[in-house]
Amino acid sequence: MLTVMNVSERTQYFLDREERYGAHNYHPLPVVLSRGEGVYVWDVDDKRYYDFLSAYSAVNQGHCHPAIVASFIEQAQKLTLVSRAFHSELMAEYTEYITRYFGYDKVLPMNTGVEGVETALKLARKWGYMVKGVTDNKAKIIVCADNFHGRTINVISFSTDPQSREGFGPFTPGYEIVPYNDIPALQLALQDNNVVGFLVEPIQGEAGVVVPEDGYLSKAASLCKEANVLFIADEIQTGLARTGKMLACDHENVRPDILILGKALSGGTMPVSAVLADDEIMLTIKPGEHGSTYGGNPLACKVTMTALQVLQDEKMAENAAVQGEYFREQLKALNHPNIGIIRGKGLLNAIVIDHANKEAAWDLCLQLKANGLLAKPTHGDKIRFAPPLVISRAQVEECTGIIKQSLEQYF
Ligand code: PLP
Repeated sequence: MLTVMNVSERTQYFLDREERYGAHNYHPLPVVLSRGEGVYVWDVDDKRYYDFLSAYSAVNQGHCHPAIVASFIEQAQKLTLVSRAFHSELMAEYTEYITRYFGYDKVLPMNTGVEGVETALKLARKWGYMVKGVTDNKAKIIVCADNFHGRTINVISFSTDPQSREGFGPFTPGYEIVPYNDIPALQLALQDNNVVGFLVEPIQGEAGVVVPEDGYLSKAASLCKEANVLFIADEIQTGLARTGKMLACDHENVRPDILILGKALSGGTMPVSAVLADDEIMLTIKPGEHGSTYGGNPLACKVTMTALQVLQDEKMAENAAVQGEYFREQLKALNHPNIGIIRGKGLLNAIVIDHANKEAAWDLCLQLKANGLLAKPTHGDKIRFAPPLVISRAQVEECTGIIKQSLEQYF
């Protein structure tokens, strides 16, 4: 039974205002947040919560990380935007920094994640025509069922989620959908010589943290290589230490031909995305063919360098691996009959609720909220647990206690 549903008058005031004036394109939990620090956020009544969503993994470094905020303020007072019509000293510094950090020839800076995905798709097509020799307008890109790569019309064109697509057609052609984690299906699709790229999430985050079998990514990458097809990894959610390695592809020693990053690149301070690739691919796009006014702005460049440095300096990948393992152990030890599945890697985890009530996952999230932990259901019965990577062992223990108590109160 759900024991707590009501919200304070103050919270209701903000909920009503947003409902009245904001578009209804999200269905948030009824909590109104006003500040954050590390693994915690506080609501307008000053109630403290553990943040177990981390803005869909955009605040891996923790809320308002002092070094990232300091860097933001320092640069904001100096120079924020010049557009790419001119050079900036920070664009030079950043491009060198990030390409060395990830080991690629070049970076193309964008802002949101979906822009990074669009950039990668454009690059793959260009490379297909200019390098692979595919006939004009025939390029095909293989994608996976149940993918989530963002919300533009082109990207939802190859979504398999009806909610993402309905009412938004007509869609962009040029994509073939294969089941995720299915090597034979990929192998078959790769036989078409017009295929230029395979776009994949190393773990499907939005689908409910679906982890493919060990060896899937490395096998897929080697099949792509054999077929002269670009292996494109969308590490927007899985990247940047979240899964216990800097990139989720690192678990299988896979180096994507095109790497897409976003979210935690700026530690949650502003939209920053990046596409990394070597010259053979990146230099197929010429001046005037692609860009963005804000992409690579000095403020983003500065903040991103600090956010990446913080991940390394504070060994966040290592902490994610250790605490993630411990968290899953603790969840499994609860042995709760209504938790059907516990899965994940590092600190990207999910449980699948096994209950006749379709609202059970949502209701459980309300119960968790009442007990001081914020998480959000995805696709009905799944709840993602992805706290900032600065979480300690003691905090993991406290959070499993909150989850245990909430399960007891609700079921
Ligand atoms: N790709 C993946 C794997 C994501 O998880 C997301 C967002 O959740 C995106 C792309 C889109 O990123 P954005 O919302 O910044 O456009």
